[in-house]
Amino acid sequence: SKSEGRNKLKVFDPSTLHARQLQRQIVGELREAIRSDQLVLFYQPIVELATGRIEGSEALVRWNHPVRGLIMPDHFIPVAEASGLIAELGRWVLRAAVEQLRQWRENSLTAQHGFSMRINVSAADLQSLEFVDDVRDALAKTGLPPESLVLELTESAIIQNNELDRYTLASLHRLGVGLEIDDFGTGYSSMGYLRKLPVDAVKVDRQFVQELSKDSTQLGFLAAIQQVIRSCGLQGIWEGIETAEQAEALRSIGCTSGQGYYFGRPLPGPEFTDQLSQQQTW
Ligand code: C2E
Ligand code: CA
Ligand code: CA
Ligand code: CA
Repeated sequence: SKSEGRNKLKVFDPSTLHARQLQRQIVGELREAIRSDQLVLFYQPIVELATGRIEGSEALVRWNHPVRGLIMPDHFIPVAEASGLIAELGRWVLRAAVEQLRQWRENSLTAQHGFSMRINVSAADLQSLEFVDDVRDALAKTGLPPESLVLELTESAIIQNNELDRYTLASLHRLGVGLEIDDFGTGYSSMGYLRKLPVDAVKVDRQFVQELSKDSTQLGFLAAIQQVIRSCGLQGIWEGIETAEQAEALRSIGCTSGQGYYFGRPLPGPEFTDQLSQQQTW
């Protein structure tokens, strides 16, 4: 049959072999990259919509490759997850992010209004008890208040039914760090779980904001989502805000926090630090 033919073709396709070799090479280079500090964190502001002030930042990792230049996370996070390097990468991100936050606080750039550093945590990290220790150590070493660190997890990572994940989540919650569901609205259709999980915040996926301009009934839909989030006692953060109109529309329906290119693209540490010291508002 046709599909059989395709499968056969795949097995003998020289480009598949090449892809596998390339994959192996990338894994090796990535391992080296983590150890030799080729990774770098960029920071994107999270803005309080009512005042236009920066209330937090999301750390987004990039790979500053000596030959290939700056590589975006979508190109190496999946490789890290598939190869088991993700735990080491996650540890690097955690340490770099809390160290940056410690410096900002030391220079009084963030202490004043409950600023939080948000980092992305992979589902695989929840599977290791070591991760909880890493977070505890990172807080102890830097002396940061636990609530100043927020861990962003995808719905699928957070709604695992296995014991270990639930235990890890509960342990992290007990440490006092913030837990946030990332890409909210893209995974599970039921919102019932929101009330049952030990989470503090929800990052609404950017697809909701991006459909706003196409359809005027969409705003009512977004208002309903915001209401559900608030009625569960959670903070809602709206991502993917690219225009002043989108920011204003969200403000008009009671959304409190936003993130997106309109407020600022992710920036390297020193440039984001400048933004903080200028107390930029929108
Ligand atoms: P994410 O957690 O959903 O991060 C938001 C992504 O949207 C970022 O892409 C950000 O640059 C981009 N973005 C921000 N504002 C806008 C906007 O207004 N419009 C549009 N179109 N995009 C916007 P980035 O940095 O390429 O990261 C992609 C994904 O890689 C992240 O999605 C996250 O899942 C993953 N990732 C990034 N850093 C880390 C990390 O340190 N650890 C792990 N495990 N995953 C990470
Ligand atoms: Ca995120
Ligand atoms: Ca997201
Ligand atoms: Ca994502």
